[in-house]
Amino acid sequence: MSHIVPQPGILDIELYVSGKSTIDGVTDVVKLSSNENPLGPSEAAVEAHRRAGYELNRYPSSEHLSLRTAIADVHGLDVDRILMGAGSDEIIAFLCQAFAGPGDEVLYTEHGFSMYRVSALAAGATPVVAPECDRVTDVDALLAACTKNTKLVFIANPNNPTGTMIGGNEVARLAEGLPEQAILVLDGAYADYVEGFDGGASLVDMRDNVVMTRTFSKLYGLGGLRVGWGYGPKPIIDVLNRVRGPFNLTAPALAAAEAAIKDLPYVQKCRQENAKWRAWLAEALAEHGVPSDTSTANFILARFSDQQEAEACDDYLKSQGLIVRRVAGYGLPNCLRITVGDEASCRRVAHAVGQFKGGAR
Ligand SMILES: *Cc1c(COP(=O)(O)O)cnc(C)c1O
Repeated sequence: MSHIVPQPGILDIELYVSGKSTIDGVTDVVKLSSNENPLGPSEAAVEAHRRAGYELNRYPSSEHLSLRTAIADVHGLDVDRILMGAGSDEIIAFLCQAFAGPGDEVLYTEHGFSMYRVSALAAGATPVVAPECDRVTDVDALLAACTKNTKLVFIANPNNPTGTMIGGNEVARLAEGLPEQAILVLDGAYADYVEGFDGGASLVDMRDNVVMTRTFSKLYGLGGLRVGWGYGPKPIIDVLNRVRGPFNLTAPALAAAEAAIKDLPYVQKCRQENAKWRAWLAEALAEHGVPSDTSTANFILARFSDQQEAEACDDYLKSQGLIVRRVAGYGLPNCLRITVGDEASCRRVAHAVGQFKGGAR
């Protein structure tokens, strides 16, 4: 028995399995497993990234002021209460590291995002799961699961992998009802897909116990660069800045994200294309006997009759070069999560699901 052992909780973390991107023996592969923007990033972002490549000898900004200012301008936020992370995953990690430890509880919902559990365990805290109601966040169940040890409550709104969301009144009721030592974290990874939705920023402004996280990985098409941000009350952001490494974002990533957020017409185009093909895909799947909840994000949670059918469909889609996401690990064994791709990909996946349902296996 070795004397070298990690901190308690670490070995309870299951190694993350990311969305596959290749299939052995298939060349024309479509990846619909990681909720990436099928249209890619803004041209302006690609150009800014390329230009930043000429100064790789220089350390990046540690304050991220230029990017934070751009974010504050676009969203109408207080620049001093924005914090940048290497993906919003890093903001989630900072929150757990700074506010939860051994004996503390980190609460999230039944089909909640996997990083909440990972970051809670990494901090030595105890993950606690509250049930959802028909794949929708249940505020009463969350409030009922709170204890004197609850330090963080995470909800993604819209949620991944369900695609559902709850209204502002419900979110406000949750924030109001939490025990006084707990922070509500609104994960807005998919908030950009909801026209006119602020992701909960106005609630952050009104309260001292709410933090919002956002990302450039989804609608902005920059998952490869790892840029996310958080917005919260000044005292909380000050704490998170103490655990943040000074150079946690690279210069090319900062430059690309700034150009991306300023390219408003492109953002709008991506949002509209997603909404259009999301509706088309949901309807096409329903016609083939595969229902889904109304999605507010850039993916659809396709429901099959049981785990066996979902897995058989996944195998069939793979044989057709289509990679979607199994979500048994999220407590949804009878479902497949399908990212809304471009028109050609949506048509291909709908066609293949139709063939599968029609008996081709
Ligand atoms: C994709 C995703 C994120 C984080 O993505 P980053 O690339 O780390 O910004 C956070 N929360 C949810 C629910 C997601 O689906």
